[in-house]
Amino acid sequence: MADKQNTIMKLQAPEYITSITPYPPGKPMEELERELGINRPIKLASNENPLGSSPMAIKAINLALELDGLHRYPDGSGFNLSKKLADMLEVPQDNIVLGNGSDDIITILTRAFLKNNDEAVISESSFLMYEISVRSCGAKPVFVPLKSFAQDLDAIAKAITPKTRIVFLTNPHNPTGSIIKAEDFTDFLDRIPSDVITVMDEAYIEFATATDSINSIDLVKAGKPIVVLRTFSKAYGLAGLRIGYGVMPGMITSILERIRPPFNTGILAQAGAIAALEDKPFLQKTLKLVKKEISFLYSELDILKLDYIPTQANFFLIKTGNAKQIFDALLKEGVIVRSMASYGFEDYIRINVGLHEENVRFIKTLEKVMKNG
Ligand SMILES: *Cc1c(COP(=O)(O)O)cnc(C)c1O
Repeated sequence: MADKQNTIMKLQAPEYITSITPYPPGKPMEELERELGINRPIKLASNENPLGSSPMAIKAINLALELDGLHRYPDGSGFNLSKKLADMLEVPQDNIVLGNGSDDIITILTRAFLKNNDEAVISESSFLMYEISVRSCGAKPVFVPLKSFAQDLDAIAKAITPKTRIVFLTNPHNPTGSIIKAEDFTDFLDRIPSDVITVMDEAYIEFATATDSINSIDLVKAGKPIVVLRTFSKAYGLAGLRIGYGVMPGMITSILERIRPPFNTGILAQAGAIAALEDKPFLQKTLKLVKKEISFLYSELDILKLDYIPTQANFFLIKTGNAKQIFDALLKEGVIVRSMASYGFEDYIRINVGLHEENVRFIKTLEKVMKNG
């Protein structure tokens, strides 16, 4: 069937598109249950919130559904949500761009600023959406190795050429959990040409406890060419809703607004996000759980004499050796993690913090598969 379809069609996508490897999402639980017949699998693979969603967000979504329904288009500007974010962050409202997840803003940003043969600097072993979005514009990703599991700002600054339009940074970094120190970043910014945008992807910033991290919003306020990306997918537990935002100087938003799909965030997503911002108890509960369970996991791994990379996020790397094999063995036991082999860390798996009972099961299962391996 597929073969037949392919011979009839003579479509040609550009080579820079056909050479892209699709983003590999974490295995959905239903798929695992279907494929391996495993009951009650646990998923610690996509850095999701183990407590579920903000209850206030769920309530607001139900209410919006009842009161407003879905037959009308949403407010394309997301006025109420962007107003709330602007007030909260103390930035002008025209500094906010909403997205169908922060992935969406990465796509809009690259499309707006990159043309054929332009360059974007990306750390190796980072979030794959940067590379995919850059390539999809026919532009060239320039990769800089990590240094001791952290982004190497000095090497990144040196990789910038006259063709560079965007630098991607992640703080805290996924998958290593490392952060960028404020003083290192200030030095870095001084070295960056004023026609280069620095993207500061802060998908996990709520979890960071280090006191010497960057205040990126202050830098936006100061008019630096910085785009801060935030999301409701992680700390707020709304990954399935698809909503995120970018904070940036008005000059950048005015460019993005020209090509942003006009209704890229829906009625339910906007309503849920507004309520999630008000749900301080849920956020606090989430941060408390993550902190407590990270130290639980560290101490259990210490007992098993396994190395790990200390984290500022809700996930971290564990050195198990032979990540692919450990990943498969865990999967057969119904524990979904991420092998980091495709990120160049052959010996590491990444797990995110789950509920206490999930973390206990992960440790027990890991101990078992490592003994058998
Ligand atoms: C999860 C994640 C995001 C968020 O993606 P959404 O599209 O908002 O769900 C962005 N950047 C990184 C590094 C992530 O890990």
